[in-house]
Amino acid sequence: MNKIPFLDLRLEKGDELDSILSSIKKVLVHGKIINGPEVIELENKIASFCNRKYCVGVNSGTDALYMGLKSLGICQDDEVITTSLSWVATANAIAMTGAKPVFADIKNDLNIDPASVERLISKKTKAIVAVHYTGRVCDIDRLRKIVDKNELYLVEDAAQAFGAEYRGHLSGSFGDVACFSMNPMKVYAALGEAGLVLTDDRAVYDKLTALRYNGTVNKEECLFPGLNGRMDTIQAAVLLQRFEKVFQIIEKRRQNAAVYHELLKDYVTVPGESNDETHVFYTYTIQTDKRDELKQYLENHNIETKIQHPILMSAQVPFIDCRRDTLKCAKRVVNNILCLPANEKISKNEIKRVCNRIKEFFQK
Ligand SMILES: *Cc1c(COP(=O)(O)O)cnc(C)c1O
Repeated sequence: MNKIPFLDLRLEKGDELDSILSSIKKVLVHGKIINGPEVIELENKIASFCNRKYCVGVNSGTDALYMGLKSLGICQDDEVITTSLSWVATANAIAMTGAKPVFADIKNDLNIDPASVERLISKKTKAIVAVHYTGRVCDIDRLRKIVDKNELYLVEDAAQAFGAEYRGHLSGSFGDVACFSMNPMKVYAALGEAGLVLTDDRAVYDKLTALRYNGTVNKEECLFPGLNGRMDTIQAAVLLQRFEKVFQIIEKRRQNAAVYHELLKDYVTVPGESNDETHVFYTYTIQTDKRDELKQYLENHNIETKIQHPILMSAQVPFIDCRRDTLKCAKRVVNNILCLPANEKISKNEIKRVCNRIKEFFQK
């Protein structure tokens, strides 16, 4: 049996490869290699798609988070509450501002638990970074209430959730600042590193455009120290080319998830979705207390799976002394999660093959 890969980043020969190559060629011909006209076009397109006033293209999702937090004035002695289950970039971006990440528990849906956030608020708390984990919008209504009541900032880490919706509103439209990653693994993917920051606040926008290029205005005058996080024009051109396709990708991932749901719901805990939301399934993450055995069994049958992420951020070396809730749910769940191959290139037959193996595993 051929291998079912978790992800396959090769471009399909033909239309996709040709259209991408011609959009890259345009950039090479006009020669504005960094922060060129395609970056501005992309910023405008995503700002209007997410119904935001401003969008700033940056070099990665990590940069987007770091600069987003900096633009809100987050700095040393501040505390920023976030989830315990995410890619470590979320906690790193907080720590790199000088602030302390504080780790909240999650719920069974793998997203941050607002009740845990409330328990962690202190005089030093300045912001909450809300991750839409696996491509599902987190409990944003309750987080917004907590943020307003305590006069905090809400930052969305929407790296995994481009196109996800909650009650008719898109991810990226909720936070004082919202951040996307367009790295090649994401649902809306560039062919290299790329990220975006969204906001409605003019002052935050001005700060972001300076932060993106060594803290400068007019390319020369430096107002504060900063790094270089500008976006490659080629990546913006690729993203513009792929913008139309991303909705087909999301639709295909949702169909794949529906097939998995039907075939697996009696064997493992499958991801949920309520009527008033659209999950984009960056990952299709199941939960089972036989996770490690199942992963090995599937590997033996040429099916690649991934654990995203096997180490809680709160358990990573730089963060072991950070303040946290009990993390009762997170500590259990992190040993049970497994991401199945569910991307848009996987066929229905391949999904059935994965499901048959999983059934076989549990019937033994
Ligand atoms: C991918 C990801 C990031 C970081 O994005 P990069 O573009 O890889 O720097 C941040 N947070 C989450 C939740 C992610 O999945």
